[in-house]
Amino acid sequence: MPRKSSRGISVSDALKSSTSILHFFSKKPDPEAIEKIADEATIIEEIVKSKETPLFQDHNSPECSIAESEFYQDPELLSQRDISAPSCPICSYPFSRLSDSEALIHVNQCLDHLEPVKSQSPEFLPPINIPSAFTKIMLNRFEDKQWQFTTERSRADRSKRSYLRSCPFYKIMPHMRIAVDAFKFGKIPDIDGYFLSHFHSDHYGGLSSSWTHGKIYCSDITANLVLQQLRVAEAFVVRLPMDKTIWIEQIGVTCIGANHCPGSVLFLFEKQVQGRWVRYLHCGDFRANPLQVLHPAIKGKWFDTIYLDTTYLSSKHAFPAQDDVISATSQICLSLSKEIVDDDDPVEIARREAGIGKFVSQKTASRNGRGRLLVIVGTYSIGKERIVMGIARAMRSKIFAPLYKRRICACLEDPELLNLITDNPIEASVHITTLREIRAETSLEYLEQFKPHFSRIVAFRPTGWTFTSSKRRAENPSVETIIEKWKTPYGIGDLKPQRGSSATVTVYGVPYSEHSSFRELTCFCCSLEWGRIVPTVNVHSARSRDSMKAWCNLWKKHQGYHVYDGQRQW
Ligand SMILES: [Zn+2]
Ligand SMILES: [Zn+2]
Repeated sequence: MPRKSSRGISVSDALKSSTSILHFFSKKPDPEAIEKIADEATIIEEIVKSKETPLFQDHNSPECSIAESEFYQDPELLSQRDISAPSCPICSYPFSRLSDSEALIHVNQCLDHLEPVKSQSPEFLPPINIPSAFTKIMLNRFEDKQWQFTTERSRADRSKRSYLRSCPFYKIMPHMRIAVDAFKFGKIPDIDGYFLSHFHSDHYGGLSSSWTHGKIYCSDITANLVLQQLRVAEAFVVRLPMDKTIWIEQIGVTCIGANHCPGSVLFLFEKQVQGRWVRYLHCGDFRANPLQVLHPAIKGKWFDTIYLDTTYLSSKHAFPAQDDVISATSQICLSLSKEIVDDDDPVEIARREAGIGKFVSQKTASRNGRGRLLVIVGTYSIGKERIVMGIARAMRSKIFAPLYKRRICACLEDPELLNLITDNPIEASVHITTLREIRAETSLEYLEQFKPHFSRIVAFRPTGWTFTSSKRRAENPSVETIIEKWKTPYGIGDLKPQRGSSATVTVYGVPYSEHSSFRELTCFCCSLEWGRIVPTVNVHSARSRDSMKAWCNLWKKHQGYHVYDGQRQW
């Protein structure tokens, strides 16, 4: 691309005359954002006038030959600049305005203090390039120290009450005064905004009606739940729109669907620090899919740090796609709901082979019918609605849920779900149950309550946790192998009834997960460009961190791989 020189237009004009930056950040130009940027431009212009020197000047060096005013306008230049701009590996502070020695001092201070150092940089110094080896060594050294510090501190904090413990570094976005899913540490120093990724207790823990530590930013659905279930004062709750960048002070925030539970989001945080965009992607809890990577607010950008939901970041977690699990479970339910047994039905054949129902005379059952089938799906908190709805749709049934769950469902802004939900357990063949433990015994007890309306029960226990692939897999696979060969197909033959199952009660564990599989994490991280991945789950043992780090290092070598326009599944 040919280098351009400054056309000498004012910052304000450049911003007002061009909406390209807005297209870059949101699907539609947002009038509020236009206003905000125009306001900022005016402020910048005031500063320029007061100093009587141009704010952005051409340094005649290759790095600076792209004038800043043009740099603002052109998303392509913007992302290009981001990737090449050297920054502190610890706190992402851009080095473009520091000398070599100042940059070194900065990094060393960051290393010593473990908290980002707020640099006072002399303006207009020529940019420098830090050799990548330097950055890499520093980053590794720093990361080790950071985790060591965090684990030592959390050990020391163990006897303290929760709100007196210190918030671990991976919940705080450097330079932004933002904390994510960090409500149990009381008031966190230097934090202005508390972001909540979704309504699961391991994330909102600490939030209650007595919360007064600052604004809570979350999606609409999460806000409904925070208000209704936790009775947090309305004045503290800020609803964020989906898929649209809004500006909170100087920080651009975009919520992107996390494909986890209803209302769950990925947070994209962007802030311009000294002419460079510092960008973090916080994944909360998520099940990765190509739509996230292809999202207009994500695609083509460079991320300083990805805060990654590493629940299943281990090669043994190879559970299948949600849609495949939903269709297999729906098919099983449909087959078993037939009161007259169809001996040729593949589901019945599989059950006979598994020895279920072999003591029941098939002929008797066929002649008299085997009674009405009740299906229960265990889910305590929010989540798993899609599999329940899939089954209900297949069986053309309503869904019964206890009062506690019905109240939660009312918050989820899902008309189809609301339409299916009923308070009459007899009317619905599909029940959501909050049973903590779904086993043959507990399911049978559940069935007893509803006799004679139902005479058989099938119970599903959805989790990705217990599922490991039966296939033998290479120990040190390449990224290509993981992506091409490690996809796990799933069909009715894979649903194996659990111990204690009989003709009356059948329990299935189903590999239905609302977190990413190992392969999906690989696809996600190899389809983005980033500087650093910070794991947010399974971080308390050094061994687990080391193993996760090894995968991240492998992915880092394959950035920009494996996603195409319009792709919906990995
Ligand atoms: Zn969650
Ligand atoms: Zn979680």
